[in-house]
Amino acid sequence: MTLIPQVGVRKLDLLDSSSYLEQTVASVIEFSGVGLHSGALVQMRLLPAPAGSGIVFRRTDLENFEIPATGRNVAKVSYATSLMRQSVLISTTEHLLSALIGMGVDNVIVELDNLELPILDGSALPYVEAFQQVGLKTQRRRREYLRILKTVEVLDGDKFIGVYPGEGYSVSYHIDFPAPIGRQAFTVDLATRNYGLQIAPARTFGFKEDEQMLRNMGLIRGVSESSAIILTRQGVVNGPLRFDDEFVRHKVLDLIGDLALAGHQILGRVVAERAGHAMHTALVAKLLKDRSAWKLVTAAPEKTKSKSVTAPAASLVTV
Ligand SMILES: [Zn+2]
Repeated sequence: MTLIPQVGVRKLDLLDSSSYLEQTVASVIEFSGVGLHSGALVQMRLLPAPAGSGIVFRRTDLENFEIPATGRNVAKVSYATSLMRQSVLISTTEHLLSALIGMGVDNVIVELDNLELPILDGSALPYVEAFQQVGLKTQRRRREYLRILKTVEVLDGDKFIGVYPGEGYSVSYHIDFPAPIGRQAFTVDLATRNYGLQIAPARTFGFKEDEQMLRNMGLIRGVSESSAIILTRQGVVNGPLRFDDEFVRHKVLDLIGDLALAGHQILGRVVAERAGHAMHTALVAKLLKDRSAWKLVTAAPEKTKSKSVTAPAASLVTV
């Protein structure tokens, strides 16, 4: 497909999204597929949205009912992150939200004609590729970042997640799963714009041994070998893996998507150990509740063409 860039639209460079200005998609992007948990067929469209509007989901099958992607609208489910407002549900938002934050897309309307986002290939790569195809449009508004001012942690037995002050946005994850995954750790610095290459391609995964139980619970009606890494205790059923440590990279992907519910890109350091969606969103809730733990800041325009384009935190000013 050949796309002719429009006026004011840049072809997306993976290093480019550290712009201090907000961005939206340059044109409408369409996806279709089934939801991982519901198995329901869904058509989804990402529409350009005005500066300052954020990420808003819209159920076209329910009179365009809208649910903004904010921590206030998180529904209580453990297997995926879902949003709920006035008992209307939007399920499994984390992979799309991860791609939006990871690639610097601030404003978009997400139209869905069913309750769950399509699982696609189980990663965020189809979203990143679509953004690269249509390009992103820079908007006339400075992006606001949520700068972490003090430690906020959530503990649950041997599970842990915390956020700490720091320049840039780094995310570290440690996992400890049964064989063949075992212990894995991964850290990504999103200020260096490594999301598209290091995180987006990592797919979700599940153990064959759990399949019947999960099917009985109605949790994986849409799973297939093309939408998830399937494992047995002996190894990967549908290899090859995209990375040796694809599992922990997918956990990083999920965490970035769940933290997007803070409503802004974070400036700080996030560390998680054996956590999951419930703990990710618990951290968002605890963080947002503590107004002394963060402040909103914008990045100042660059005075000169300097290398600070890859280190947006270096040029931040308080609102
Ligand atoms: Zn996931």
